[in-house]
Amino acid sequence: MAEDFKLGPDEAVVLRVGKIGYGSGGPFSSMFNNGELILTTKNLILLRKNLFGKTEETKYFPLADIKMVDGKPQVRKSNPAHMIYTLDVYFNSGLESFQFEWESDIDDWVANIVSVVTGTPIQKKSDLEMLQEAAALAESMAEPIEKIQGLFGIKSNRPVSCKCPSCGATLSGIKGETTKCPYCGTFYTF
Ligand SMILES: [Zn+2]
Repeated sequence: MAEDFKLGPDEAVVLRVGKIGYGSGGPFSSMFNNGELILTTKNLILLRKNLFGKTEETKYFPLADIKMVDGKPQVRKSNPAHMIYTLDVYFNSGLESFQFEWESDIDDWVANIVSVVTGTPIQKKSDLEMLQEAAALAESMAEPIEKIQGLFGIKSNRPVSCKCPSCGATLSGIKGETTKCPYCGTFYTF
């Protein structure tokens, strides 16, 4: 299928997302919300589509025209109205706002635009760092919550697993609950 936009010889697509609105007003001020936004190594490209998904207009916003302040491209997430989140890009010619369906996608776009414009890699946490953070958080959360629940007589719902003391089978249940080992019939309290 032919694309509705043209890339230069050394231009590559970095990101693309659909259901994009153009303009920063409320949900009805935007003329459409089924546009497609494409980040390439040189441009932001907006495909303006009709109701049938056919591209009616292709707009090119050269990344070289993004305003730089202290070496930083002026790109940010903004929340101009309730439940409306936009990717705001400040060009030398003025502000362009793109409404996203998902707020969380915008952070990714900001990071990628900054990365492409400045030529620096995106600062991403490694899987190991993420795991370590999650483990530390789980550790700091689980115990105090159980203690507080205990004070109020609320049963914990933390799933735990233990070895049956008489046959060694793995038993799983909720902390504080008593279960009967399905293999040897021993009662065990987690
Ligand atoms: Zn057992």
